[in-house]
Amino acid sequence: MSADAPAPRDARARLDALFAKVEGFFTAAQEREGEAITCHAGCSDCCRRFTVTGLEAEVIREGLAALPDGRRDELARRADDDTTDVCPALDADGRCAIYAHRPVICRTHGLPIRFTEQRAGRSLPMLDACPKNFVGRDLAGVSAASVMDQATLSTILGALDAADADERGRPRGERAAIVELLRGAPPRAT
Ligand code: SF4
Repeated sequence: MSADAPAPRDARARLDALFAKVEGFFTAAQEREGEAITCHAGCSDCCRRFTVTGLEAEVIREGLAALPDGRRDELARRADDDTTDVCPALDADGRCAIYAHRPVICRTHGLPIRFTEQRAGRSLPMLDACPKNFVGRDLAGVSAASVMDQATLSTILGALDAADADERGRPRGERAAIVELLRGAPPRAT
């Protein structure tokens, strides 16, 4: 475990703290940016078939375990539909069936994101957002306080997941597709 990784038994609690922090960041950005961020319940354009860390997978399993059997079966059936790339946790009304247990990536949906893209051997800084948000605005002019830095978030989540992996004795870097979790399939190592 690296020197700055949290104590293993803290990993789950610290993921909850990270969830809260990302949600707080989102709320503050929404208040700051006003109508430029149009995200609302029922808008689900971001809901695709993501993979998540082993630690986040555990949280989703907790959420699934709390659902009635029939509901779980319904989600498993949706997960078996490979004719779409829409997340099978998305209900027909555009709401998430595992909302309280959704992973970090889903909690950043709608925020402007700063990330790095590799092109022709070069690392290029990029800034992007949902095309429904900041319409007609140059993202470069958006307050830095409203922009989520993907590298920082990934580093924090990776450290928490590594700590959790050490605690459980599972391989570090293990990821699971939300589709597999809804089907009830075991995680896979990467
Ligand atoms: S887990 Fe929920 S919020 Fe995340 S992509 Fe699936 S339906 Fe959307």
